[in-house]
Amino acid sequence: MPLHRPDDDRFHDQCGVFGIFNHPEAARLTYLGLYALQHRGQESAGIVSTDGVVAHVHRDMGLVSEVFDEETLAPLVGDAAIGHNRYSTTGSPTLANAQPILVNYRGGFLSVAHNGNLVNARTLRRRLERSGSIFQSTMDTEVLVHLIAAERDPSRDHQVLAALEKIRGAYSLLILTRNALYAARDPRGFRPLILGRRAGAAVVASESCALDLLGAEPERELAPGEVLRIGRDGTIETLRSAPARAECMCVFEQIYFARPDSRLFGLSVDEARRRSGRELAREHPVEADCVFAVPDSSNSAALGFSEESGIPFELGLIRNHYVGRTFIQPGQEVRDFGVKVKYNPVRSIIEGRRVVVVDDSIVRGTTSKSLVSLIRESGAREVHLRIASPPLRHPCYYGIDIPDREQLIAAKMSVPEIRDFMSVDSLGYLSFEGMYRAVGDRDRHCDACMSGNYREPLEPGIEEKTAFETPILTHA
Ligand code: SF4
Repeated sequence: MPLHRPDDDRFHDQCGVFGIFNHPEAARLTYLGLYALQHRGQESAGIVSTDGVVAHVHRDMGLVSEVFDEETLAPLVGDAAIGHNRYSTTGSPTLANAQPILVNYRGGFLSVAHNGNLVNARTLRRRLERSGSIFQSTMDTEVLVHLIAAERDPSRDHQVLAALEKIRGAYSLLILTRNALYAARDPRGFRPLILGRRAGAAVVASESCALDLLGAEPERELAPGEVLRIGRDGTIETLRSAPARAECMCVFEQIYFARPDSRLFGLSVDEARRRSGRELAREHPVEADCVFAVPDSSNSAALGFSEESGIPFELGLIRNHYVGRTFIQPGQEVRDFGVKVKYNPVRSIIEGRRVVVVDDSIVRGTTSKSLVSLIRESGAREVHLRIASPPLRHPCYYGIDIPDREQLIAAKMSVPEIRDFMSVDSLGYLSFEGMYRAVGDRDRHCDACMSGNYREPLEPGIEEKTAFETPILTHA
């Protein structure tokens, strides 16, 4: 039986990181933090904890709920921990590529959790291999570990800072050592990272929703380029403040990746998405009986569309939240099964009506096409598709798994051609202007997957998706 990803045509999320220092139940709180960040990566999960003497680790393939239980959490003792949810954007989905990475070197142990993608990893890795480094995984993150270990200066702070100076691209990083937790955001600020407090403990997470779950008080987002050192006594020291680089925050974090209950890049994600829905309604008005979202990431945009247009919002599509990473596909005669297992149209809402369907983006187009056909089979009189972002025409090299141009429908077809391919009565994408009225200043954001403007230069050969050789370890 073929194994099928139920969300083959969607973006795959990237990674979520969580860290805590100075709490007696550090690993358990990290486990909860990873739960809140599950939407950012469903392929593998891991936690490294320390009591200030040794490090303890558990990593495995699967969801947080599959990877951890009482038995696997119990050995993760100590008052400091970092955790990671992964969806691979470089390197293959094997246990060897699960994070946090944990190594021992002359300075003691070192553990790293990374969200993002380094754009000069291939060059750095070749250089390190020529000077004798042996790599265990195919991840770009391992390059950073080698760079830290290769620094001659005995100061750990210096080693971390010097290694960070050599890497380029997108990173929100947590680095755990015996006595400190380092938190770093790349100078462009592609990926989010937020600092909070829970009693005497310092907490760092990809998104504020993880702090909410723990009852931690959000303190502030790390500035692009900032590097913090959190000490065992809970002190927080800024080792590097923001270098003068133009910001380049990933606009798709606001549009799709982040949870709507998070605050990100200074904005409420829900509010930004509602604004994008309102813009969409203004740019592409339509006469219709109801509007509904492709849940869940498009819910806020669909509400915004409804508010602006006056067309009632309905729950026309129901999403099955219990679909795992893969399921066993029955025989080929069950058409559209991949979409059907995840979404079910509500016939009583749809039948005989003119419907507006709001989605955040279209990648390959196959999921949207199948959804439209399910909606039509449920009796829709007209189907109008509205997309709360401009067309996706380019891959992402900054940590999001967007397919190559040949697979992106908007790279191959014009909007009218896509409309015909989808068999919808009308199709409207949000303009760049509309999107930035919703999420803020264009100069501060990356939109390379839509515009092709890669503001952080790419190294030659980066378009080859598998950057490195096959890992030696495939299972521990
Ligand atoms: S290319 Fe797209 S997905 Fe990648 S960082 Fe830029 S905006 Fe985000």
